[in-house]
Amino acid sequence: TISMLAIDSAGNMSGACTTSGMAWKMHGRVGDSPIIGASLYVDNEVGGACATGVGEAVIKIVGSHLVVELMRQGNTPEQACKMAVDRILKRYKDVTDLQVGFLAMNKNGEYGAYAIHPGFNYAVHNGTNNQLIDSKSHIT
Ligand code: ASP
Repeated sequence: TISMLAIDSAGNMSGACTTSGMAWKMHGRVGDSPIIGASLYVDNEVGGACATGVGEAVIKIVGSHLVVELMRQGNTPEQACKMAVDRILKRYKDVTDLQVGFLAMNKNGEYGAYAIHPGFNYAVHNGTNNQLIDSKSHIT
């Protein structure tokens, strides 16, 4: 999945998400990317979130919507992403082959991410510079 969150100079937020799906997927499988609230959710009052990884795990917790609601309750973007990952970890005993990463940005332009496994990177463009950031992960 390639997802994007944006905020303009007036504080308006938007997001986008695209995917080729999972390798060897069943014909007709619908992943998390086209489901609003799963792989992408933006609430202009609070912030936005997006996900990548195994879509079935993201759909089961309505992940991106969960992250936005956790930010609404006062959690930072990174805390909210970690809490959504923790919610997935409660459902799966073995996450050896399960990768999910969440990325979030709030209404103040603060951002953060969290994944199950290392290797989930995201890029930040602040209007002038680009930065590549390695997200924190449950397994290090
Ligand atoms: N989330 C996508 C899916 O499950 C896979 C991906 O990360 O691109 O369809």
